Amino acid sequence: MPQLSPVTPRVAIYARQSVDEDQGIAQQVEDCRSEVLRRGWHVAGEFQDNDTSASKERGPKTAWAAMLKAFDRGELDTIVVTETSRITRSLIDVLDIRPPRRDVRVVVIREGIDTERDDFMLKQLVLLAEREVRIKTERAARYAVGRRIAGHPTPGKPPHGYNWVPSIERDDAGTRYRVNHGEADDVRRIFLEFLAGAPLAQIARDLNSEGRRTRQGSTWHATTVRRLLLNPLYAALLPPAQPSGQFDASSIDLETCTPGAWEPIVKREQLIASRGRLIGVLPSHSGTARKWLLSGLAVCAVCSRPVRSARGETHPTARQDGSSAESHRYHAYRCPQGHFMRNGDIIDRYVSEVCIARLSAHDAFDLIGAGSGEVDVATLNSQREALKARRRSIASFVARGLMADTEADESLTEIMSALAELDDQITRAVQRSPLVELSVVDDVEAWWNDATLARRRLLVGELMTVRIKPVGHGKRVTTIERAAESVTLEWNRG
Ligand SMILES: [Zn+2]
Repeated sequence: MPQLSPVTPRVAIYARQSVDEDQGIAQQVEDCRSEVLRRGWHVAGEFQDNDTSASKERGPKTAWAAMLKAFDRGELDTIVVTETSRITRSLIDVLDIRPPRRDVRVVVIREGIDTERDDFMLKQLVLLAEREVRIKTERAARYAVGRRIAGHPTPGKPPHGYNWVPSIERDDAGTRYRVNHGEADDVRRIFLEFLAGAPLAQIARDLNSEGRRTRQGSTWHATTVRRLLLNPLYAALLPPAQPSGQFDASSIDLETCTPGAWEPIVKREQLIASRGRLIGVLPSHSGTARKWLLSGLAVCAVCSRPVRSARGETHPTARQDGSSAESHRYHAYRCPQGHFMRNGDIIDRYVSEVCIARLSAHDAFDLIGAGSGEVDVATLNSQREALKARRRSIASFVARGLMADTEADESLTEIMSALAELDDQITRAVQRSPLVELSVVDDVEAWWNDATLARRRLLVGELMTVRIKPVGHGKRVTTIERAAESVTLEWNRG
């Protein structure tokens, strides 16, 4: 191999592309090779960084770092690239290859740069590139602020109940969240059930037993239901930016939320009410999910203790041929003190029939009217807004030195307790009795059969106290008539 003349540059071809580029790295290498050939130079090495950004620091594992090492070992003296932006978008990187640190000759094909003639152009171009990166970053930040003011959520997976609208499908307002009607029904129902008093675990169980699933296709749990009930996005409230990956709905202060530009699924007061009930309460206090209509609800007629559900088992009966019929298990209620264990199905049927009959009666509306003093939630909400405005003006008085700290402190405490009181009133107003929705129902029986177990249990609890009597050992109650004799119903009102 002939000795190369010392004036013949030993060239490193450097090619780079970042993740979001599709201009082929192969094309860059090809262009550099022909230029090197045209100049009669020698290619000492080719270095390619794929998926590497030029504006971020390049680590020791990159081809860039390997190239610098090769230069330090004296294996090359010149870098050839297609554009300045391939080398770098940061002046710091240029200082890595230019004096005083290193003296690498840089040749940029498209921009006609050769540092042997002139260093100035290269640095100017890198400065320009640096500026471009900065402007892009600022533009992105400004865009984020603008998006916030317009009430648009950050891109990402929306919660159960909404679909993300891709940019080409957006309306003139640029709406990002579109209501997914099937899922939104789940959301509305979760809020309604919870505000009517159903335990989280019961809500989850009812959803699961109807085959409803979360966005990820998993079953509902008390924790997922809880998270949903805390989420301000459902009331079209946009929380302030949170550290990525740390979305904790319970730590969001509703006062720091701004109006969102999408359709709410629940009312703001429903959200306030559910958060009021959940925040500060340990997530484990999610109540017990019941599988049966009356467990924990009906009481023993002897000792007045709430009955529990149990699995009864029939005794295997001997047949005439000597074999025995298999025993089978059945749903039962039992007194925790041992006063009885009875077949539950027939009692459930009896109580259901009585409820349907009572609610279908012509005076059922009286049941509903009782105690549901109409509270104007809108008025409460506007009072709330007024208090918040007062709080803001106090803060601005203090900031401008127009109000003493102690004075402000007193007023703020007053406002805070008034706000807490209002939230409490809103919560009570929103926690409707399950009877209220029945005022618009024509076919009570159909409603009952469609209703969730949580809802039926709430109604039974609202209407009556069920007392279950012992029937004597071994006696089986199989008819509604016999059930009626062995169960006492006490009406709570009406
Ligand atoms: Zn008892």
